Amino acid sequence: MLAYRLHKQAPINASSLTREEIADPEPQAAQILTKVLACGACHTDLHIVEGELSLHKKPIIPGHQVVGEVVGLSEGASRFEVGERVGLAWLAHTCGRCRFCISGRENLCQNALFTGYDIDGGFAQFVVAYEEFAYRIPQGFEPAEISPLLCGGIIGYRALRISGIKPGGRLGLYGFGNSAHIAIQVAVHWGCEVYVFSRTDAHRKLAGELGAVWTGKAEEAKPGMLDSAIIFAPAGELIPPAMEALDKGGKLVLAGIYMSPTPPLDYEKHLYYEKSIQSVANSERRDGEELLALAEEIPIKTEVEEYPLAEVNEVLMRLKEGKVQGGAVLMVSE
Ligand SMILES: [Zn+2]
Ligand SMILES: [Zn+2]
Repeated sequence: MLAYRLHKQAPINASSLTREEIADPEPQAAQILTKVLACGACHTDLHIVEGELSLHKKPIIPGHQVVGEVVGLSEGASRFEVGERVGLAWLAHTCGRCRFCISGRENLCQNALFTGYDIDGGFAQFVVAYEEFAYRIPQGFEPAEISPLLCGGIIGYRALRISGIKPGGRLGLYGFGNSAHIAIQVAVHWGCEVYVFSRTDAHRKLAGELGAVWTGKAEEAKPGMLDSAIIFAPAGELIPPAMEALDKGGKLVLAGIYMSPTPPLDYEKHLYYEKSIQSVANSERRDGEELLALAEEIPIKTEVEEYPLAEVNEVLMRLKEGKVQGGAVLMVSE
């Protein structure tokens, strides 16, 4: 099959991932073989290429927002039938035995495997996956439209879930990129009042179109205006104003993997009255399953830019330069 593989980490350039003809992967026990139709590219792929994340497998095929069609089953794999469409996300496997798995927190599994990092991912014609970690894809969507749901969408949904926001509650979203533009559609569907904080005019405009009741900048927040808030931007300086904007008992969720240094907090202004802060690390399968069910029910609209797989290096370069609007999706048709 055709695959784009990383052999050596270095700043992204036109030949970071090399185009190669390699043997088709063979599904092992409990795995399915999937023909890739579309695979999103995100900043985590860029961090794997450039070395912010140390390599777990060499060479590796990155890509962890895969939408594909099942074309082969290993002996014993019975969850899907050949011909079904599936989605594969970052969480590729958990051990089921560590203290985190046993206590229902598989997102923190000590032995987790990740797609496009520990196991070859979707920047290729075929990929194998553990069937228990593949998602059923709802009807009525193009493969490219599903792809952003499988990374930023799942993280945004998990952040929403752990924020404890209730129907009719007042929710603040700080930063309005790929995750937030999906999360807002769920929050509005739940009947929440959504307040969007962004420095970008175009993002505030899109937030308004998607149902935000208020848009503005972080410094325009009033104390006590929010029941829950989520920071999507990797900007630690947003934490104090977001905490101040929370009402008593409010919760702030930090949805990013990276965050710039966080300024000191004032106990009385930012933390007292039972306010809390929690970060998001990876996701559980239920996050993906619940989000995909909501995607069909609402239905969620995603903004995507489609590119041929052959342009994968260029797409990662555009992502680094901040030139991609919405989700960047590589279409695999070769
Ligand atoms: Zn585990
Ligand atoms: Zn991702």
